[in-house]
Amino acid sequence: MTELLTVENLHVVFQTYAGTVYAVNGMTFSVQPGEIFGLVGESGCGKSVACLAILRILPGHGRITAGRVLFDGHDLTQAKESEMQAIRGRQIAMIFQDPSTSLNPVFTVGSQIKRIIRHHTQASRQATEQRALELLDEVALPDPPRIMQAYPHELSGGMQQRVMIAMALASGARLLIADEPTTALDVTIQNQILELLVELRRHVGLSILLITHNLGVVAETCDRVGVAYAGQIVEIGPTSEVLHTMKHPYTQGLLAALPSAQQKGRDLLSIPGSVPNGLSVIPGCPFHPRCPHVMEVCRQTPPRLTAVNPGEAQHQVACYLYSPETAQ
Ligand code: SF4
Repeated sequence: MTELLTVENLHVVFQTYAGTVYAVNGMTFSVQPGEIFGLVGESGCGKSVACLAILRILPGHGRITAGRVLFDGHDLTQAKESEMQAIRGRQIAMIFQDPSTSLNPVFTVGSQIKRIIRHHTQASRQATEQRALELLDEVALPDPPRIMQAYPHELSGGMQQRVMIAMALASGARLLIADEPTTALDVTIQNQILELLVELRRHVGLSILLITHNLGVVAETCDRVGVAYAGQIVEIGPTSEVLHTMKHPYTQGLLAALPSAQQKGRDLLSIPGSVPNGLSVIPGCPFHPRCPHVMEVCRQTPPRLTAVNPGEAQHQVACYLYSPETAQ
């Protein structure tokens, strides 16, 4: 299948007072049409920065230093700013953890959605109104006419996130980047929003790049998953395969850190050590300072992503425990 989005060997750095921060260090993944792809990892692993780089909305002190971002075969890293303005929102929409920061507090929900519809279509006033009501219905908001008249602060966080998703649909975006869209919500609402994303993928054919720190969210939602660590993908593949036969010690650590019913009453496990601050590039495998299986080779040469089962390229891992180099 032809990929809708391909991120290839992406590198992003930030110039800070403390020095250069290497935030994304050769990240590679793709999103296929109609797919939900999960990018998972702890905070500071480069997931969100990679997504800001895709849309070229990095803060002023950040820049892409290498790599390509192909959207429909067109390299966004080389696109003119005017082309990017046409792509942002219209082709690729993004929603964030806190929807209240993206909604304008002084306009009603209806006027904000209608403005997007008018921006992208030549629809009449009446057709615009009708489409806005349909969109609010599509994202399962109750009583759309009332929601149209509401101001953002009159809605709960879950309702605001549904409005943000409706606005993404209003623009006709083909790819939705959802950065921790449910992290600020309680568990029941979180599940409802995830179900909505799965539903939209099924009915509208929306492709979704879902960023999360939670493997449980990935399990419920994503077709494929990439595990990010220190700005790189360390394991990638179909979700069921990665979660049932996970190989990388970091992926195993993330799973062990998930709260479960069996652990009730016991301390939560966590991965020892902390995510690197990016102020220097760690030689060898970036996970080696935290890895319980570290070997000499791990400290010297970075492992490459290789197929877990030779001949089946889908599930890949970057770890010497599974690569021929270690066996020699
Ligand atoms: Fe651990 Fe070595 Fe594998 Fe890195 S390459 S995850 S340090 S065993």
